[in-house]
Amino acid sequence: MNFEKVLIANRGEIALRILRACKQLGLKTVAVHSTADRDLLHVKLADETVCIGPASPKESYLNIPTIIAAAEATGASAIHPGYGFLSENADFAEMVEKSGFIFIGPTADTIRLMGDKVSAKRAMQRAGVPCVPGSDGALGDDIAENKRLAAKIGYPIIIKAAGGGGGRGMRVVRAESELEDAIALTRREADMFFNNPAVYMEKFLENPRHIEFQVLSDTHGHAVYLGERDCSMQRRNQKVLEEAPAPFITPEQRAEIGSRCAKACVDIGYRGAGTFEFLYENGQFYFIEMNTRVQVEHPVTELITGIDIVREMIAVSAGAPLSITQDDIHIKGHAFECRINAEDPKNFMPSPGQISYLHIPGGPGVRWDSHIYQGYRVPPHYDSLIGKLICHDDDRELAIARTLLALDELVIDGIKTNIPLHKELLTDPAEEKGGVSIHYLEQKLGLNAESTKKS
Ligand code: ADP
Repeated sequence: MNFEKVLIANRGEIALRILRACKQLGLKTVAVHSTADRDLLHVKLADETVCIGPASPKESYLNIPTIIAAAEATGASAIHPGYGFLSENADFAEMVEKSGFIFIGPTADTIRLMGDKVSAKRAMQRAGVPCVPGSDGALGDDIAENKRLAAKIGYPIIIKAAGGGGGRGMRVVRAESELEDAIALTRREADMFFNNPAVYMEKFLENPRHIEFQVLSDTHGHAVYLGERDCSMQRRNQKVLEEAPAPFITPEQRAEIGSRCAKACVDIGYRGAGTFEFLYENGQFYFIEMNTRVQVEHPVTELITGIDIVREMIAVSAGAPLSITQDDIHIKGHAFECRINAEDPKNFMPSPGQISYLHIPGGPGVRWDSHIYQGYRVPPHYDSLIGKLICHDDDRELAIARTLLALDELVIDGIKTNIPLHKELLTDPAEEKGGVSIHYLEQKLGLNAESTKKS
């Protein structure tokens, strides 16, 4: 390893996950934290800590100069951004490298390429990754031409901001009469929110599943795929329950799409861990975007492949070759991840506060990735994710049974959590069968709301 000390520019469970990987690799760790996060577990366990500002993320976890100054002051050699916050901020990656530190992730140029959805789609098309049919790049101002294009693709279509993210900056168009206004509106929003008025057009898929491929790529021209995850169980574009492998995906489909993703990594000179997100409908995969960072749901892939994704991403950023080849990767069994959120399971309102009692489940095939402990106070300033329960077993049915058992054992008192929602989802007949669409959860919750109103 050509570095010795890693600064972790994140908080919560992922900061702890990164800290553990660093310690195992014999690397020293620096935890940076806001004033609201002095009690975080990884802050207690880190070799050095730096308070980088007040609770507001803008003034702490998103404050680039302060984070770089903390790296400078502690003599860190590399910075791990985790997920969220600055993890996909190309300017941050650039500043990190320009200041002489290693960014644990791809280069700023790669983040930029994949952060713009138009250029990302182009690069993927070139590499042979299947994409949603749509406009060839950004839309022009000629409305007649745009109408022709939409008719050719076939309604419904969706107008999306090239610079969009977080589920914002897109609009579905079901008839030609709505097209001109929809383009103008999305353009205006795109300019306002993302500082980039470019929009493009895609076929709108009515009832797809969300399936994503995990990749790892080194700087020696090697890339591997670690199979796929199904993350269709979503509410407001937020994933709730994930699993790997994705139900009903054949080994042939996995090999075909996976190898194309790996090839795309080599083509674009990708470094680190990444995820290719697809919508899947009628047996076809359609690329929508690439996440150029580690993802919340990476553990399900770790459990079915036995590969430590965070350790590999740190090692390849240090210039090491991947420790594995495609032939070493075998999918074994099935895994689920429940995102445990501090929120009301019925109305989804955040529920910060002190954890008065905590009991963590155990036994074979049960993994608990979390920074919480008894007495810990969940601050109100951040994402409500307080832990991830990940369970593995020989097949899907057994994995569901094991996850339900573990959920029964998991006790978090003092705050409200979505544990009851997970129990309900894992005993839902459609989920037991597998392969629900991205609309399933919202439809189910809508129905629930209806029946509560009636009763
Ligand atoms: P973001 O970067 O904002 O998350 P994505 O391109 O990943 O944007 O799309 C977010 C979500 O919007 C997808 O998960 C899907 O639910 C929906 N979506 C995007 N493109 C399409 C499409 N062509 N057809 C149907 N749904 C889409």
